[in-house]
Amino acid sequence: MLDVPLSFDFATVRKIVFGWGRRGELSRYLPTLGRKCLVVVGSRTLLQSGMANEILGLIREGDCAIADVAEIHREPLVSDVDELAKRWRWAANSEKAVIVALGGGSAIDLAKAVSARLGHPEGDSIRDYLEGVGRGLRLGRPCIPVVVLPTTAGTGTEATKNAVISNLDPPFKKSLRDDRLLPALAIVDPELAASTSRQVTAHSGMDAITQLVESYLTRRRAPIPAALAESALRLAIPDLHTLARDLTDRQAREAMSYAALVSGICLANSGLGMAHGVAASLGVHQGVPHGLACAVMLLPTLEFNRVTESERLARLAERVLDLPAAMPAEQRVDRFLDAIADLLTALGIPRRLSELGVKAEDLPTIAAGSFGSSMSGNPRQASQNDVCSVLEAVL
Ligand SMILES: [Zn+2]
Repeated sequence: MLDVPLSFDFATVRKIVFGWGRRGELSRYLPTLGRKCLVVVGSRTLLQSGMANEILGLIREGDCAIADVAEIHREPLVSDVDELAKRWRWAANSEKAVIVALGGGSAIDLAKAVSARLGHPEGDSIRDYLEGVGRGLRLGRPCIPVVVLPTTAGTGTEATKNAVISNLDPPFKKSLRDDRLLPALAIVDPELAASTSRQVTAHSGMDAITQLVESYLTRRRAPIPAALAESALRLAIPDLHTLARDLTDRQAREAMSYAALVSGICLANSGLGMAHGVAASLGVHQGVPHGLACAVMLLPTLEFNRVTESERLARLAERVLDLPAAMPAEQRVDRFLDAIADLLTALGIPRRLSELGVKAEDLPTIAAGSFGSSMSGNPRQASQNDVCSVLEAVL
């Protein structure tokens, strides 16, 4: 029996090319989307490793011109989007323009936001279009096509319809959200993410797992994302364990790239929950990296949600951990939480907020900043006091 409503919308990337070594197919697909390439590259290591040059070579191989290359080495700010959109303004009037993003969430989100900005001359800044802080302007015209090649396995932004944009003064971290932000093509080559460090692998892997669990439990849950989340979690929990022991395990790298991609598809269609609500606030107010914040908040928020969601969580545990259906629901939930706790230990991830530099006096501000769109999907209604109590329990 399905415990999700059979009434839903489902939108995803136009084409996904997934597989080890398949980045070479960029030269085949790119010319169908555009001939003048604007490239966003996301980290110095990509430039140093020669990976960025390899991708630029593939673009040229596809008979496409490289019009410009931009670099981004931090989570994109409103000013980064506005400046790059100004630099690339000509592309708004070119039918041949296409943006190619190579990198983690920052590069891909910057590419999506610039594409949207170029399609919409209205307003002074991308801020005008951001949820909660802008003037409420809506995206209307089509954006320039975006091709993404993720180099980390975690955020799933290669398959989402939002771009996370931050600001320093006033501090915020908000989403630009619209179906038009879905990339035209996602080339997910796990080999591109195979050399990420132990820490990045751990944090981004836990981000993907948190996204899969939260999109499964959210009040906007739907059948396609739920089925996909189960399949991806069955791989992600054991395979992230494998990577904790051996970063060179190819099969585990492939599994985590798959889990990350699926987590993006799921969150784009079902939303998230309290762990992501708090993670956004921890990022803004404490500078905690996104994946680490998700990893620390996953267990305490599941403890909060199990009060109303134990049946659904028990069902997930049964499917993901192959538990007998006859096992009492609370016991299945315990087994699932134990499996996550074991994984956090194997990855060396701290369990307490104080280990991330958070102090008791910071908690009210963190709680107050946790009520963005992610929190609105949390299955159990939560007040600011509830969030404060959840935070206090893991300080
Ligand atoms: Zn996330």
